[in-house]
Amino acid sequence: MVYKAEYIWIDGTTPTANLRSKTKIIPDGEQPPIWGFDGSSTQQAAGSSSDVVLNPVLVVPDPIRGGDNVLVMTETLLPDMSPHPTNTRAACVAVAEKYEGFDTWFGIEQEYTFFDGAKPLGWPEDGFPGPQGPYYCAVGADVIFGRDIVEEHMDACIEAGLHIAGINAEVMAGQWEFQIGPVQTPRVADELWIARWLLARIAENYDVTVSLDAKPVKGDWNGAGAHTNFSTNQMRDSYDACVAAAEALGTKAAEHIKGYGYGIEDRLTGLHETASYQQFSYGVSDRGASIRIPWQVARDQKGYIEDRRPNANADPYVTTCLITETVCSVAKS
Ligand code: ADP
Ligand code: MN
Ligand code: MN
Ligand code: MN
Repeated sequence: MVYKAEYIWIDGTTPTANLRSKTKIIPDGEQPPIWGFDGSSTQQAAGSSSDVVLNPVLVVPDPIRGGDNVLVMTETLLPDMSPHPTNTRAACVAVAEKYEGFDTWFGIEQEYTFFDGAKPLGWPEDGFPGPQGPYYCAVGADVIFGRDIVEEHMDACIEAGLHIAGINAEVMAGQWEFQIGPVQTPRVADELWIARWLLARIAENYDVTVSLDAKPVKGDWNGAGAHTNFSTNQMRDSYDACVAAAEALGTKAAEHIKGYGYGIEDRLTGLHETASYQQFSYGVSDRGASIRIPWQVARDQKGYIEDRRPNANADPYVTTCLITETVCSVAKS
């Protein structure tokens, strides 16, 4: 017999890449091999030499098709097997290997917004819903929109063996969050990309789309982020190491903002539980800071810190790579 392997990859769309996928039928007993696609249709090649290679990096059970079918997260390579210019995973792997001794863990909070056509799910045809306040972690049909999709997605992530940590309804009506981690990189990023694919795929069945736009509705509405929690073995042992990590991030603030997703200036305004992208800050329990040190971490004098700056549309290979390099390069080894 045979099974179906859904090969998932990240395309070359700018300023924010999209996910693509296609199916390969594989004989039972064989592993998903290297495959390829037409890069001229994904902003990844010219028509004259259009082949881009798909290299499997993580294979998980496919909760959509069930049975022996699988999802295959891949990275893109050139035909000479070097990383494709749009492949951000290769650099992430190199940095993770360089600082392997720090045993870095990441937990990423993925916020997103459901859309029903041109408007967020649950919003009236014309105008706006009531102002923010009642929607966060709410219950009730007047304040919750899309819960069936969220539940189905959470179950799918569990069935796929992803390290999903939880879900919650967000501050803007139609906005939600799920968390992946804590897991090492690049695995956390591989899993996050699969979880994003599953969400868009499941929402298809409801005629709903998923937006990772950092500021899907302009004005007095919360944006969508991808808060990135992280720790090294030193931070999990010492509060000084947590503070040192926050200080290290302050020395490279502009470089990080550049890698944290398109449209970050629209989201990190200093309002709506954000710190301005132009001003770096950190503090205990401070949701208006760039970096938050959770209160339990201050109490326990060890743990992790939260980088609140990455956008929902950020590439987790890039964000985890930046954080690892900045924090570990100055940490005492
Ligand atoms: P928030 O209070 O900011 O909404 P969440 O509960 O949504 O926090 O997310 C916090 C995330 O932090 C968890 O999902 C988990 O993956 C991650 N986390 C917990 N401990 C650690 C750690 N030691 N290192 C890295 N990440 C961690
Ligand atoms: Mn959260
Ligand atoms: Mn959130
Ligand atoms: Mn958070």
